[in-house]
Amino acid sequence: MHTTPEMPFRRPSRTVAIGRIGVGGDNPVRVQSMTNTDTRDAEATLAQIAALSDAGCEIVRLAVLDEAAAKALCAIRAGTDVPLVADIHFDHRLAVAALEAGMDALRINPGNIGSEAAVDTVVAAATAHSAPIRIGVNSGSVQKDLLKKYGGPTPEAMVESALTHIAYLEKRGFYDIKVSLKSSSVTRTIAAYRLLARQVDYPLHIGVTEAGTPLRGAVKSAVGLGILLAEGLGDTLRVSLTGDPVTEIGVAYEILRALDLRARGPEIISCPTCGRTEIDLVGLAEAVEARLRHVPDVFTVAVMGCVVNGPGEAREADIGIAGGRDCGIIFRKGEVLGKVRGAENLIPAFMDELERYLTEKKE
Ligand code: SF4
Repeated sequence: MHTTPEMPFRRPSRTVAIGRIGVGGDNPVRVQSMTNTDTRDAEATLAQIAALSDAGCEIVRLAVLDEAAAKALCAIRAGTDVPLVADIHFDHRLAVAALEAGMDALRINPGNIGSEAAVDTVVAAATAHSAPIRIGVNSGSVQKDLLKKYGGPTPEAMVESALTHIAYLEKRGFYDIKVSLKSSSVTRTIAAYRLLARQVDYPLHIGVTEAGTPLRGAVKSAVGLGILLAEGLGDTLRVSLTGDPVTEIGVAYEILRALDLRARGPEIISCPTCGRTEIDLVGLAEAVEARLRHVPDVFTVAVMGCVVNGPGEAREADIGIAGGRDCGIIFRKGEVLGKVRGAENLIPAFMDELERYLTEKKE
């Protein structure tokens, strides 16, 4: 089980394989997202899958709305080896077609696909293709009878909904299951996952759905997913943001990094600036962030504004700069490399040093 001294517990869960990626058990918490291209447009969808993968996305989900979208999956499969999940509502034929096209997993709620025979067909196809099924309950799609029973999409209603869908699969001897219980309410999402985690050992796909635009969505996701992960819950996560899904991946890794669960890309420590700031810290931090945006290596860069707290943080970092009066002191792993004089020289000098550091790391 993945543990750190600060994070000693992770809920034991079964493992499922989405293509080459294991989810649950001792696997790291997996980062996933969903394309927002028209799946029928294989070229555009493949371009977005590639961008997501470059950013560190490990599993990509695609909406399969109709037969044309299901047909496009063959070309999409041929163009990428990223593990892919077909997201299907109601139509079991699309689920079978998606598996035949080489999708690695399904997201489908078996209670919503019609007859028992249709569920039999999907389970047989998923078994034949060794494809797990994610049951994805959203507070907006809880069955009417459960809404009536619980007086709305409460956590209890969401959990009972998930258990109902799980039962469709279990009674057919199918246990290759992942479960999600998403709500746009952070508190309801947390309560629902806590409740479900006591009742099943299937891996949990966690997320706050319809979280919103990048700032609001990132905050809601960080609070909701952060609390769940800190309690050991969650085997894979999706941060849902309105906009380019690639943004979701950076947020997901920052949530995992904040909890010492996973890291990808450099950590940039920059002070908030204050009345003591003696250099163009905002300009410097932005230049550093822009340069490092696509660097996957894990290391720390500190960009600090003054001599009060600056040298301490900069010394701790792999590479850092602390501002002084009209000057900056550059550090590398605790060693002072030198003093740069003249405000106009700070950004170029630090960026040069950063380039040297990145080149040496590659060697
Ligand atoms: Fe202010 Fe210095 Fe702290 Fe930056 S490091 S916030 S400049 S005291």
